[in-house]
Amino acid sequence: AAKSAGRGQCLLFDTDMLDRQNALIKLEADLKRAIELDQFSMLFQPLVNLDTGRITGAEALLRWRHPTRGLVPPAEFVPMAEELGLIVPLGALVLRMACTEAAAWPDRLNVAVNLSPVQFRRHDIVGDVVAALKSSGLPPARLVLEITEGVLLEDTDDVKDKLITLKGMGVRISLDDFGTGYSSLRYLRIFSFDKVKIDASFVQEIDSDLGGAAVVRAVCMLCGSMGIDVVAEGIETREQLLQVMEAGCNEAQGYLLGRPLAREDFLEIEGRSAAGVFPGLGVEESP
Ligand code: C2E
Ligand code: MG
Ligand code: MG
Ligand code: MG
Repeated sequence: AAKSAGRGQCLLFDTDMLDRQNALIKLEADLKRAIELDQFSMLFQPLVNLDTGRITGAEALLRWRHPTRGLVPPAEFVPMAEELGLIVPLGALVLRMACTEAAAWPDRLNVAVNLSPVQFRRHDIVGDVVAALKSSGLPPARLVLEITEGVLLEDTDDVKDKLITLKGMGVRISLDDFGTGYSSLRYLRIFSFDKVKIDASFVQEIDSDLGGAAVVRAVCMLCGSMGIDVVAEGIETREQLLQVMEAGCNEAQGYLLGRPLAREDFLEIEGRSAAGVFPGLGVEESP
């Protein structure tokens, strides 16, 4: 009896795996056509300067509107696009979309775009950026590129050349998710980043654990001495906001200050911010 139960389980497992594999193959086929079918859209999450209390711009966050599955989050389709070699055309599309959007916003606002390490690998990422800036008319100083430490693990000289070229054009570079990867201090020194974004996991531990606050403070001191701005990601509570301000962060981003929003909603809260209303004030939900 034990033996047949074992076999049954094994069969069940196999069917399940096959189903999942078929679903994945179908999703990949859908993703291949999603660009042509124009199924991507963008949300904009506010970034807030903690000295002035004003919104300085937004991070562009990609969404895939799948006809039957609804909104597929980037955590699911970005790795798939990387594997299928689709991230290069998709990344070029994202740059074009984000720059075109931001070119229509007030001049005071920047846009931050996430890049995949694959876009740096044997690919002319500089050409994509130049094309997006040219077709949109967005001044390079209003574009921020967010890269992760994964980019820096590649051929260092090649990546360094590309980053130097981009910076030479006036584009700014932000190191995303700092603290989750190698968090190499050497990288901070070699590549002259304009901003470092401290990963949400540290921020969300800041009020529960003294260690989290110490890490954020140390990163702020280190970056401050190198002229790098520090952005705190994932601010959800007023307490976390106060803590990262006290630790010396220059900018903040998170649900408390504004969720990823459609263009009109982003511009509406930005208008209020420009009029002096601190973003997220009065909308805090109890944790
Ligand atoms: P990321 O660049 O670190 O972006 C921040 C993520 O944290 C976003 O998730 C955002 O919605 C979420 N977030 C912001 N504030 C809070 C908060 O207070 N609490 C919590 N729990 N989450 C918060 P999203 O939009 O699902 O994007 C996930 C990741 O997908 C991004 O992480 C980025 O690495 C990647 N991604 C998004 N758009 C693109 C894109 O256009 N190209 C590439 N290559 N990657 C993208
Ligand atoms: Mg990012
Ligand atoms: Mg991040
Ligand atoms: Mg992240």
